[in-house]
Amino acid sequence: QDTSRAELVTRALTVKFGGLTALAEASIRVKPGEIHALIGPNGAGKSTFVNTISGFYRPTSGEFEIAGQQLSGKRSDEISRLGMARTFQNTELFGDMSVLENVIVGCQQHFGYGLAQALVRSPRMRREEREAQRVAIALLDFVGLAMHADDEARFLPFGLQRRLEIARALATRPRILLLDEPAAGLTTQEIDELATMIRQIAALGITVLLIEHHVELIMAVADTVTVLDYGQVIASAPPSVVQRDPRVIEAYFGG
Ligand code: ADP
Ligand code: MG
Repeated sequence: QDTSRAELVTRALTVKFGGLTALAEASIRVKPGEIHALIGPNGAGKSTFVNTISGFYRPTSGEFEIAGQQLSGKRSDEISRLGMARTFQNTELFGDMSVLENVIVGCQQHFGYGLAQALVRSPRMRREEREAQRVAIALLDFVGLAMHADDEARFLPFGLQRRLEIARALATRPRILLLDEPAAGLTTQEIDELATMIRQIAALGITVLLIEHHVELIMAVADTVTVLDYGQVIASAPPSVVQRDPRVIEAYFGG
C-alpha cells in the first residue's frame, strides 16, 4: 500500500445531462491528507461530482487526477484500484451477508480477484483470505462494530450500517475516501462519533472528501470547504472564511 498522502485535482470539470449542466467547469483542489467538505444546496451538483470522480459518470469535458495520475475516462474499478473509495448517499451493503463478510469483500476487492481465480483457490489466495479476515476484524474494531461481526448486515440499526459502509470502503485501502452525506439520518451523538472517526481516518494519512449538509459537522472537521451552486464553485476556503462569504450566505445559508 502506498501510504503517501494523495491530492485530488479537478480542472474545469463539466457534466451535462442533455440540456442541463449539472457541473460547470468545476476546478477543485483537495490537498493531500486534508478533510475537504463539499457543500451546496440541493441540486448543486455534489453527487454528480462524486459520481464523476469515482468513474460512474463520464465528464462532458475537463479532467481530474489523483496524486498526479490522470483519471478522466477511466472506469470506476480502475479508479478504485488507483486509490479512491466511496460510500453512497443511500447505503449499499450486502444485506444477507454478515457484517464481517461485507468488509472482507472490500479487502478482496483490494487484492483484485476475478471470479475464475476465486473458484480455483491457490495457496496464495488462501493466505490472502486469512490476511483479509485479519484486516476486516481490525477495521470492524476501528469503527466500533467488532461485537456485531457475525450479525446479518440488514439487521444492523441504520447508524451502524453507515459505519459498516465506511469500514468496507476503508478495506479497499484507499488514499482518498469520498463520503456522500454520511451524517444523513444519524442522531446527534452518532454525528459526534462520526466526526471523531473522520478525524481518525485523516490521521491515518487518508485524504477525505466529505459531501455533507450538516453544517456543524463540516465546521467541526473540515480543513477546507468548497461550495457549489448551480454546478459552479463559488468558494473554496477554510470553514471560518466560507461561513462569512456573502455569496455563500446568499446561496446556501439562505441569507
Ligand atoms: P446534489 O447532489 O448537489 O443535490 P446532483 O448532483 O444530484 O445534486 O444533481 C445536480 C443536477 O443534475 C440536478 O439538477 C439533477 O436533477 C441533475 N442530475 C443528477 N444526476 C442526473 C442524471 N443521472 N440524469 C439527469 N440529471 C441528473
Ligand atoms: Mg446529492
